[in-house]
Amino acid sequence: MINSMNTPLTEFKGIGPKKSQLFSRLGIFDVEDALYSFPRGYEDRRNVKSISSLEAEEEAMVLGTVAAVKKGRYVRGRKRTTRFLIKDETGTMEVLFFNAGYLEKNIKTGDKYWFFGKINKNGGSIAMMHPSFGKADEEDFNGDILPVYPLTSGLTQGERRKLSANALKYVDESLEVLNENIRRSNQLCGIEYALKNIHYPEDERHMRVAKYRLIFEELLLFSLGILMMKNKFLERKAGFVMSKVPYVSVFCADLPFGLTSGQKKAVEDISNDMSSGKRMNRLIQGDVGSGKTVVSAAAAYKAIKNGYQAAIMAPTEILAYQHYDTFKDFFDDKGITVKILNSSTSSNERKETLEMCEDGRADILIGTHAVFGKDVRFKDLALVVTDEQHRFGVAQREALNAKGRNPHIMVMTATPIPRTLALIMYGDMDVSVISDKPLGRKEIITKVFRGDERENAYRLVMDQIKKGHQAYIVTPLIESSENIDVRSSEEVFEEAKEYFGEYKIALLHGKMKQEEKDRIMNDFKEGNIQVLVSTVIIEVGINVPNATVMVIENSERFGLAQMHQLRGRVGRGSEQSFCILVLDKDTDVAVKRAEAMESFSDGFIIAEKDLALRGTGEFFGTRQHGIPDMRIADVVKHSKILKKAMEEAGRIVEKDSLLANEEHRKMKERIFSLYGEEEPRL
Ligand code: ADP
Ligand code: MG
Repeated sequence: MINSMNTPLTEFKGIGPKKSQLFSRLGIFDVEDALYSFPRGYEDRRNVKSISSLEAEEEAMVLGTVAAVKKGRYVRGRKRTTRFLIKDETGTMEVLFFNAGYLEKNIKTGDKYWFFGKINKNGGSIAMMHPSFGKADEEDFNGDILPVYPLTSGLTQGERRKLSANALKYVDESLEVLNENIRRSNQLCGIEYALKNIHYPEDERHMRVAKYRLIFEELLLFSLGILMMKNKFLERKAGFVMSKVPYVSVFCADLPFGLTSGQKKAVEDISNDMSSGKRMNRLIQGDVGSGKTVVSAAAAYKAIKNGYQAAIMAPTEILAYQHYDTFKDFFDDKGITVKILNSSTSSNERKETLEMCEDGRADILIGTHAVFGKDVRFKDLALVVTDEQHRFGVAQREALNAKGRNPHIMVMTATPIPRTLALIMYGDMDVSVISDKPLGRKEIITKVFRGDERENAYRLVMDQIKKGHQAYIVTPLIESSENIDVRSSEEVFEEAKEYFGEYKIALLHGKMKQEEKDRIMNDFKEGNIQVLVSTVIIEVGINVPNATVMVIENSERFGLAQMHQLRGRVGRGSEQSFCILVLDKDTDVAVKRAEAMESFSDGFIIAEKDLALRGTGEFFGTRQHGIPDMRIADVVKHSKILKKAMEEAGRIVEKDSLLANEEHRKMKERIFSLYGEEEPRL
């Protein structure tokens, strides 16, 4: 019996365990899933056209009888076509399929079928290429707009449609989660109308009204989830209300350089947050090289001067060491103790560091995941800084939070997140943006060379090292592989040794022992190595201002965001720097990316281009970045609706911050059922 939205599919007539298994592959487990898994498109069958009235280039539905099958011949290297001759009372047309020989068995001469597709006209002949089609018996064929769903092998479109049609019988007003007020002020149709018309639209207008409502609903529920989480976060008063003494200014005055106005503003924001009595939850977003590290040091200084401890987390060991060096430079002469914890820290050292954290002798602890270890305890941790946060999972962030009494949180990222996505990924955080770069930085010159012009790239590198500078050469792979046609770092390393003979060349990759990596990185920093051949492990954060050239080999294999990060390794001093992309395969996308790199240096613009080239799904990879799978909404495509939904969510939460009122009950239940027991996490 079907008595709730959570009734499993096997309760439907005709769906047994086997079919239900297939549906589950599409994420459909119960009635509700069937209703909320939407079509990817529609077939408009209202307008059956007679063959003689077909017009070129139109999309049309034709009903006809198969008069003949013409088997295509297989021509080497070409598509094999199968043709059917279709007749109705007014004329004849051809239907063509490529590489679909199996259809010769399925589409039978003498039977009646419908075909839906685009019309090609050539002289007197009429053809339809690769149409969708089906048997035109009374039952299956009706003059409707029919949904087209994503399928999985073993399920037919007809079976999937039938499921929707059946599930729709159980739709009524009780499914409505948006109250009348919300619907009216945002001009949204009711849920019954929406579900019926998204699956079986009466006409195009109905479908659009339905779609708008469902997109809005999805984005509204998500926005509400974020706001509730943010409120909950703010409710927790900080255990650490720090004095308003302007320690950060003291720290900044002592720096060898003046801060940029973006840095100043970020430092000010942080200082205010930490004194506000509320817990800080702030994202510092600044392009590569904008100088975020010093901002975190100012924050740490404030925490320590107030008598507390700070923890800094880096995504890689190399970066942890770099921060350690930087922080020691800042703090050694100020009587502040900085310690590092790494997987390679010796057990004696580790023991001592742990003791120092626990009894408070260590003021700042820097490290990678090691900082989350169960045995790590602090005396009074009041500030947690995560660098390049997108590398950290939520669980890790939480684990560290648990180590203090609601410590202030500061997150630094160079990932230039387009505004629409930032809203979603960091909706729960306050944001400071550092949009300027330290004075005297020159724009990096980016050049693209084809694989056979590699010589030019090396010449430019030679030029720079002759001037006393250093260079990176990044490759996508460590070892060469039979299957993949790219130049490995080992190969490039050998080549470079030959070409740059008199200079010191080194190879760095992820499979090396930690000590070896550290030694090489250190040598590079000290200027003892001129050319560093590396895999992408140097992608994030590395700071060697004397390095002025970045060569990216097989650049077609890198994403835009990644190349921008790599490019950010140079241009960190006052000298003119260069980024060279060596393109071995000039596919369309690769060329577009290279062009974008040549034309734009602003990380935000690059990110927008990247998003356009790849789409949201791939931009960040997966859910762990906090963007949940959306059923119908697309945060990029529907950014205008997202904005409206965000605004509505703001109005709702302002009046009823925990959605405790009866008029919001159903909405709240739905948010919980969508995102689990807890509100959506970022
Ligand atoms: P990122 O934002 O990419 O993490 P870093 O914090 O590593 O950048 O800073 C890059 C380099 O710029 C470092 O060498 C740092 O000392 C230097 N730097 C930071 N701020 C300034 C400034 N205001 N003026 C000059 N140099 C600066
Ligand atoms: Mg950094």
